[in-house]
Amino acid sequence: MTASDCFNYLLPSAWILVLVDCPGSQGIYTYVSPPELGLEVGDIVSVPFGAQIRGGIVVQSLTELPADLSPEQIRPVEERVVSGFFSPQFWQLLQWVADYYCTELMAVIRLALPPGLLERSQRRIRLTPQGQAQAPTGCSPKAQPLLRLLQQAKTGDYSYRYLQQQLKSLLRPGLQELLRGGWAESYLEPPQALRPKQQKIVTLVQANSSETLTAKQRDVLEILRRQGGELWLSELVQQSRCSDAVVTALATKGLVTITVRERLRLLHQPTIDRDQPRCLTADQQAALAHIQALRGYHTVLLHGVTGSGKTEVYLQAIAPILQAHQSALVLVPEIGLTPQLTDQFRARFGDCVAVYHSALSEGERYDTWRQMLLGQAQIVIGTRSAVFVPLLNLGLIILDEEHDSSFKQTQMAPTYHARRVAQYRAQLEQCPLILGSATPALETWAQRQSATSHYHYLSLPNRIQARPLPPVTLVDMREELKTGNRSIFSRPLQAALTQLPLEHQQAILFINRRGHSTFVSCRSCGAVLECPHCDVSLSYHYTHDGAAQRLRCHYCNYSQDQPQVCPQCQSSYLKFFGSGTQKVTQALTAEFPHLRWLRFDSDTTRRKGEHRRLLTAFREGQADVLVGTQMLTKGLDLAQVTLVGVIAADSLLNLADYRSAERAFQTLTQVAGRAGRGDNPGAVILQTYMPEHPVLKAVQTHDYQQFVAQELPQRQALNYPPYGRLLLLRFSGTNESQVCATAQGIADVCRQSLGPSIDILGPAPASILRVADRFRWQILLKMPSHQAWKPDLARWQSLCPSGVSLHLDIDPLSID
Ligand code: ADP
Ligand code: ZN
Ligand code: ZN
Repeated sequence: MTASDCFNYLLPSAWILVLVDCPGSQGIYTYVSPPELGLEVGDIVSVPFGAQIRGGIVVQSLTELPADLSPEQIRPVEERVVSGFFSPQFWQLLQWVADYYCTELMAVIRLALPPGLLERSQRRIRLTPQGQAQAPTGCSPKAQPLLRLLQQAKTGDYSYRYLQQQLKSLLRPGLQELLRGGWAESYLEPPQALRPKQQKIVTLVQANSSETLTAKQRDVLEILRRQGGELWLSELVQQSRCSDAVVTALATKGLVTITVRERLRLLHQPTIDRDQPRCLTADQQAALAHIQALRGYHTVLLHGVTGSGKTEVYLQAIAPILQAHQSALVLVPEIGLTPQLTDQFRARFGDCVAVYHSALSEGERYDTWRQMLLGQAQIVIGTRSAVFVPLLNLGLIILDEEHDSSFKQTQMAPTYHARRVAQYRAQLEQCPLILGSATPALETWAQRQSATSHYHYLSLPNRIQARPLPPVTLVDMREELKTGNRSIFSRPLQAALTQLPLEHQQAILFINRRGHSTFVSCRSCGAVLECPHCDVSLSYHYTHDGAAQRLRCHYCNYSQDQPQVCPQCQSSYLKFFGSGTQKVTQALTAEFPHLRWLRFDSDTTRRKGEHRRLLTAFREGQADVLVGTQMLTKGLDLAQVTLVGVIAADSLLNLADYRSAERAFQTLTQVAGRAGRGDNPGAVILQTYMPEHPVLKAVQTHDYQQFVAQELPQRQALNYPPYGRLLLLRFSGTNESQVCATAQGIADVCRQSLGPSIDILGPAPASILRVADRFRWQILLKMPSHQAWKPDLARWQSLCPSGVSLHLDIDPLSID
C-alpha cells in the first residue's frame, strides 16, 4: 500500500466496523452507517448492543458484508458522540499492523488503547451558548422538552442516561434536532474511577516578610522559592518535613496561597533546571540543516559514533516542530535509559514532555493519554509500544538506538518491530522519521543501496570536542590460562582496576547474558564445537536435570553427545560459556576488596525508580565499578567512566543465530562507547578466547564499514535479511512427539503448496526445547524480500491438533 492510498478514509460505504466496549471485554461488530451521520473512522459513536446502547469507536469501513451476515441482521449506528476523537490515520496504522503481522485487529487494539476507555466513560449532553440563549419556541415541538430540561439544569448539562429516563422516546428526535442546529453537543466524560485527581497546590506570593517567622516557616518559603514558586502541598510537606499547619499559617499571613488544581498523573520527575540549546558542531549543524529542510515523509539514518551528540540534534530538530504546534514522538529501547534522556528533554522543553511505557500505572497511562488527545503540541518519550500512542498532529518521529532488539515484540502477537511500524506511521502522517545509532541495523544501512529520494544518510563521524574514541585492547584469555592466571580478570584488566581509585575514575564491567543458549568451547585452544552441516555453533540443550548432555544445531537438528575432550587438541578443559553478574561481583570482592561496586541488571532494577537511583549513586561516585548486563550498552552518558571491561566477548560471538555477528558488533561497540565520554580519555579491555575473530577486529578499530563489508556478503549468499525475508512458525505443546509431528506435517504442506522462491528450513527444535513444560519446535521460511505473499495462518492453525499451538513471528530478529 502506498501512502496516497491511505487517505481514502471517508466512508462512502453502507457498513462499518465498530469497536464496542462491553463490560469485561471488547469486540468488533458490524453496523449500518446512516449516510446522514457522515461517519468517519475514529469517530466515537453509540450503538445498539443487545438490549442496550453502548459506546464504540468506528475502526473500519466495509465495502461488502462478511459472508456470514445478511443485511437484515445489521442494525444502524444510533448517533455520533464525538467526531475526530482519534485521527483516521491512527486506525489505518492499527489495521496495517494487523495485516502485516497476521494478527487480529483486536490484538493490536489491546496493545494500543488503554483498557476500558469507553466502557467506563459516560456520554453527556450539554447546551452550547447558542442553545442556552435559545427560546424553546424557536425549535420544533419534538425538541422543546429536551431544550427545556437542559436549560433548567444549572450547567446546561445532563448525562445521556438521565435524559433517556426523563424523555424516553422523545429524546432521540429532539437530540438530533438540537445537535444539528448547533444548540447542543455531546461529549464523553472520563471514566469515574480514573477521574483526574484534584490536589492542593501552594503558590508563593511573597518570599520575604517583615513579620517574624519560625524556622520551619522560613524553610517552607525557601523550598518554594527554589522550586520556582509553586509546589503540590503534599510534596512541599514532604520536602520540608513539616505539617500542613505550617503552610496554612503562611497562607493566613498572606505569604502563600493554597488552591485546588487538577493534577495529572503524568509520571512525576524531579524538577529540573532549564537549559539552553547548545552551540552545535559543524557535523551536528549540517545534519540538523538537512533534517529541517525535509517536508513530508522521509527516513533519515543519523549515523553518529558513540558520544557524537545525537541527542542534541534530536532536541534541536524538535524545537521548530513544537513551534509549529505539532508533536514529536521519541522511541527509546528501554526504560532504564529514559530517566537520563527524559531529563534532557524536560530541561529543554519543560512540561510538554510526557513519558509513556508499559510500566505506567493505569491512572498514569490514562492521563498521559488524555493529554495526547487534547491535541496540544507535545513530546512523548516511550518504549516500543509507544509507537501506537494516539498523538494528533505528529510532526516528527525519532527512534534512538534504532538497532536495539527490544524494539521488536517476540513473545506475543502482533510480533511487531517499532521501527517498521514507525516507518509506516511516518508515511501516513507525512512526517520525517529519524533513526539514530552508532551501529545501525543492517536493514537500515542496506536501505541506502536501494536509495530513494525519501532516504537520507547523515553522519556524525566524530565525538564531541574531538574526543578520541577509546582504544580497544583484545586480551587473549588462552594466554592468561597458559601463564597460570585462573581469575576471570585478565592481568591487563586487573592492572587497570587497581589504578582506578588512585585516579578517581570509574569503570563499567560488562557481562553478556542473553538467553539460555550456551555454546561449548575449549579453554586451551579456543575451539568452538560447530555443526558439520551448518555454519553455526552447536548449542547445549538443557531439558531437565540428569538428562544426557546433548549438543544440537537448531537450524538443521543435527545433534551429538557432549564430547569428553576437545576434538581439536584433546584438552579436557571444555567449558560451557555463561557468566553472571553475581559471579563477577563475588570475584571483585575477593580480588579487589577496596573497590566499591554496584550491580546494574534486571534483578537489581526491578523496582520502579531503581534505574535512576543506581545511576545517580554511581554518578555521584558512591561506587568505583558498575557491573551489569545489556542494559549498560544503551546510551549511558557517564563522564567519569574511563575504563570499560568486557569479561567474555565470546558468549556474544557464538550464539547460534544468523544475526549473532551483527548483535555482537553492536553490543561491543556500544559498550566500548561508554568509555572516555568526559574530559579524561577512556580505554576498553575486551577479554576473549578468539582474538582473531573478524567481529572483534572491527570493534577494535571502531570500523562499522569494515564490519558491514564482511557481513553483508554472507547474508546475501544465504539470503538472510536484509536480502531475504524470514518468517518463523513456532509450535509448542506439552506432548513432544505431537508437537514434532504437527510441525513435520505443516512443513510438508508448505513444501507442497509454496512456490520454489520460498525456502523451508526445519522443522527443528527451538534452542531451549522446553519452556514452562511446553516443547517447542519451529519452521523457518525464507523468501526474497520483495515477495508479495501472505501466510495462510488460518489454514496452518486448522491443521494443528488442540494440544499444539502455532504462533507466527514475522521478520524474527532471532531464530533461537
Ligand atoms: P550520543 O548519543 O551520540 O552517544 P550524546 O548525545 O550522549 O551522544 O552526547 C555526548 C555528550 O556530548 C553529552 O554529554 C552531550 O551533552 C554533549 N554534547 C552534545 N552536543 C554538544 C555540543 N554541541 N557542544 C558541547 N557538548 C555537546
Ligand atoms: Zn582445544
Ligand atoms: Zn546444522
